[in-house]
Amino acid sequence: MYNVMSPKAEEFISHEEILESLAYAEENKQNRPLIDEILNKAREKKGLSHREAAVLLDCELEDKNQEIYQLAEQIKKDFYGNRIVMFAPLYLSNYCVNGCEYCPYHAKNKHIARKKLTQEEIVKEVTALQDMGHKRLALEAGEDPVNNPIEYILECIKTIYGIKHKNGAIRRVNVNIAATTVENYRKLKEAGIGTYILFQETYNKESYEKLHPTGPKHDYAYHTEAMDRAMDGGIDDVGLGVLYGLNNYRYDFTGILMHAEHLEAYKGVGPHTISVPRLRRADDIDPDAFDNGISDEMFAKIVACIRIAVPYTGMIVSTRESQKCREKVLHLGISQISGGSKTSVGGYAEPEPEEENSAQFDVSDNRTLDEVVRWLMEMDYVPSFCTACYREGRTGDRFMSLLKSGQIVNCCHPNALMTLKEYLEDYASEETKEIGDKLIEKELDVITNPKVRDKVEDYLANIHNGERDFRF
Ligand code: SF4
Ligand code: SF4
Repeated sequence: MYNVMSPKAEEFISHEEILESLAYAEENKQNRPLIDEILNKAREKKGLSHREAAVLLDCELEDKNQEIYQLAEQIKKDFYGNRIVMFAPLYLSNYCVNGCEYCPYHAKNKHIARKKLTQEEIVKEVTALQDMGHKRLALEAGEDPVNNPIEYILECIKTIYGIKHKNGAIRRVNVNIAATTVENYRKLKEAGIGTYILFQETYNKESYEKLHPTGPKHDYAYHTEAMDRAMDGGIDDVGLGVLYGLNNYRYDFTGILMHAEHLEAYKGVGPHTISVPRLRRADDIDPDAFDNGISDEMFAKIVACIRIAVPYTGMIVSTRESQKCREKVLHLGISQISGGSKTSVGGYAEPEPEEENSAQFDVSDNRTLDEVVRWLMEMDYVPSFCTACYREGRTGDRFMSLLKSGQIVNCCHPNALMTLKEYLEDYASEETKEIGDKLIEKELDVITNPKVRDKVEDYLANIHNGERDFRF
């Protein structure tokens, strides 16, 4: 039975509730008065229930679909302005005991190169990432208690935070590792991680079990309840995601919103981020073997409807998506993107030789970070390398209340400009620097409080003179 407050996966992600919601959405996909009512509620910018959002996702009225896109754009502007936070993934190890059918790291893949970074290699990789200008990483590792135990992950985090190269520093390490115990989540919290990210892949239990035939990940309940355990272990910020293409997208869209509702109701804090990865071609994986692929148009609609349903949740799109597709969804609600990514174990310090391919998936957007930063600025976005909230203790419910009251913008915008300035001074090409300096000048006008503006101008001058790490 559906119960948002239940600790049991099958009750807070009730299969029956999803099917009923989907049937309701199907019945009402042309119900103009109902769609208007839902859109009016959405305009209050306090979010929608999974059932209401499912109706918008299915909506077949062209004029109402345009309203959905406009509203998503408005919400994105109101909560996140024109800032886009930058990050890069760092793959630590592709040893994995699981049998995920869509991932080349599955245990039965005998021809992929298996690698695990040593601490010395991590120093090289992170130095290369710092030299690109990154300040925020997402660590990725397969599940393997022998090769990648929690002690290894903790050691890597310690190494990464300790690397100071020129003006570089990784200031926030997010972690994407397999579902684990409360005790291990506590250790990750103590190691100073930012967000704990775990993709559900699919919320459909039957498909989930088929897609994960072997290994600990087969246990649907243990995986689905992981975020509750992470929060019990003291981690405030958790990141959800499903892998679109594996299962029916309507099902997983509804499921992820139910998961968000559960976290908010049961733990008092909704998800910090939602990622929207789509299945990609990779070694031993053919996306055509999965018949749930979604078009770019539907992908954009999913992004817009998530934006409307959970306005307080950051949204992430990775280099799995092409430049064109990323352009299409940025204004609809994306607040974070990766840039200059490598999806192999290693590869930042030196390119990986072809015969040693260890990549998890093919990257669609192969541009350098400098190119991505310039591209964003040319579209009038402000690339941000900000990590201030986590470092100021603004996490979990504290962060959410600042976000909900709209106060966070007073921090985000100045921080974006200052961290962009650091990037321009230390890492940008001449062309990018020129565009960036002009953009900062223009964006200073967005700061309406004269005292804050004066302070930001002082800090920017200090950054130009070689000082670093100012924040609000
Ligand atoms: Fe392992 Fe994760 Fe790949 Fe599954 S998705 S095979 S758990 S690395
Ligand atoms: Fe993110 Fe906080 Fe920085 Fe805003 S101030 S960009 S919410 S870390």
